[in-house]
Amino acid sequence: MPIALPARILGDWAEFRAAEDAARGALDRFQPRADITPGETEEMVSAALAAVGVFEPPPHPDSLEPDNCTALFLPPAESGSSLFGAWQQCVTEPGHAGPWHDCGPVSWQDGQPGTLPARPPRP
Ligand SMILES: [Zn+2]
Repeated sequence: MPIALPARILGDWAEFRAAEDAARGALDRFQPRADITPGETEEMVSAALAAVGVFEPPPHPDSLEPDNCTALFLPPAESGSSLFGAWQQCVTEPGHAGPWHDCGPVSWQDGQPGTLPARPPRP
């Protein structure tokens, strides 16, 4: 049964890193020299947590595209498997009017579950 909305968004990266460490530990026990990179481990943990409605913290503001609106959205499973569990940034100009945001494949409205409003544009 698909998870319609994010059930829980982690407040910081400590919980995610704990899950990642546990996954890495299990992988090492079963196959000590498994050729699985830290990035691949992170992707596996993200997918496993998202399947039960737990999601990574939103990206740090410094890692957002600076020329775009900073509103963020965590698309639900119905948005398609490539977007599920991956934070999306609005691609419209910073400070645009209205409550609707868009990243191309999906659009969302401020206040919808799994959204973060835009931060004020930089002066
Ligand atoms: Zn926007």
